[in-house]
Amino acid sequence: TVVFVSGATGFIALHVVDDLLKTGYKVIGSGRSQEKNDGLLKKFKSNPNLSMEIVEDIAAPNAFDKVFQKHGKEIKVVLHIASPVHFNTTDFEKDLLIPAVNGTKSILEAIKNYAADTVEKVVITSSVAALASPGDMKDTSFVVNEESWNKDTWESCQANAVSAYCGSKKFAEKTAWDFLEENQSSIKFTLSTINPGFVFGPQLFADSLRNGINSSSATIANLVSSKLGDNFYNYSGPFIDVRDVSKAHLLAFEKPECAGQRLFLCEDMFCSQEALDILNEEFPQLKGKIATGEPGSGSTFLTKKLLQVRQPQNQKFIRIPIL
Ligand code: NDP
Repeated sequence: TVVFVSGATGFIALHVVDDLLKTGYKVIGSGRSQEKNDGLLKKFKSNPNLSMEIVEDIAAPNAFDKVFQKHGKEIKVVLHIASPVHFNTTDFEKDLLIPAVNGTKSILEAIKNYAADTVEKVVITSSVAALASPGDMKDTSFVVNEESWNKDTWESCQANAVSAYCGSKKFAEKTAWDFLEENQSSIKFTLSTINPGFVFGPQLFADSLRNGINSSSATIANLVSSKLGDNFYNYSGPFIDVRDVSKAHLLAFEKPECAGQRLFLCEDMFCSQEALDILNEEFPQLKGKIATGEPGSGSTFLTKKLLQVRQPQNQKFIRIPIL
């Protein structure tokens, strides 16, 4: 079975590519340049089951046409993982919203036009950000589950970069479900989305960090490189290990019961204070050198400040048994 992975050079996608190859799938990945693609092929030791194509900018119209013109007849599964994940802009439409939405639109259009008979499963990496806005996340009466939608509009999400990123994930995911409904008669694939909280865990390759760290890992890395007495932003929300997120991408297309589902991945809730406490307690080489905040206050912060995660039936608190 041939699986196409967009944004294959990213933090999460590298784990997905690794799991796919280890399970015996053939993988065609996309990366933004020849140099990035060559680097990735080298890291996977030129595995004959892995090949790469260039998709320079998913914001461009028809960005995926060439790949699907070339490989459409072999690809059975599409994992669309590429999307901008940074907060480093003031032009939210150009840098976050439009690439996320256009990328989703163009990959689905390319499947419809060049691989309608072959692609059976599409999995889109969405986010908890599509389920809840940053405002919802701070509302203790707000319950988030796989039926929730971030209520921000295209306009209201542009209040700042974080809510614009969240909006980009909402509107990209919505684009996909709408596309499915509008094109039922001309496609045969089923759709699943993966909606993880903050994704933490190891980089697949030590030198993945050479070109800067991905945004969610930076949340922890910034604490590690803080100085004693520093203030820090207390990030908080649901989190999940990148290795589980990767497994979920495989299960989403392997298990028929995942078709048509949004898979919310949440191990537990976290906040930066709790992460700092762990760094200070369990890493003697950091103790006395990094920020401390108010040790022990993390759990109170989480109970007082954060939304609740519940199963759709509203019966169970927090742990969502995915894997
Ligand atoms: P990365 O930044 O490591 O990966 C994003 C990938 O998308 C990179 O390969 C990047 O390429 C590519 N990309 C971004 N913008 C464009 C563009 N305009 N054109 C072409 N390619 C582009 O982040 P993650 O691995 O964390 O994120 C992967 C997916 O998971 C995203 O869809 C993200 O929204 C989602 N997600 C991530 C979470 C997290 O906490 N990490 C939580 C929930 C969802 P390049 O690096 O070359 O620019």
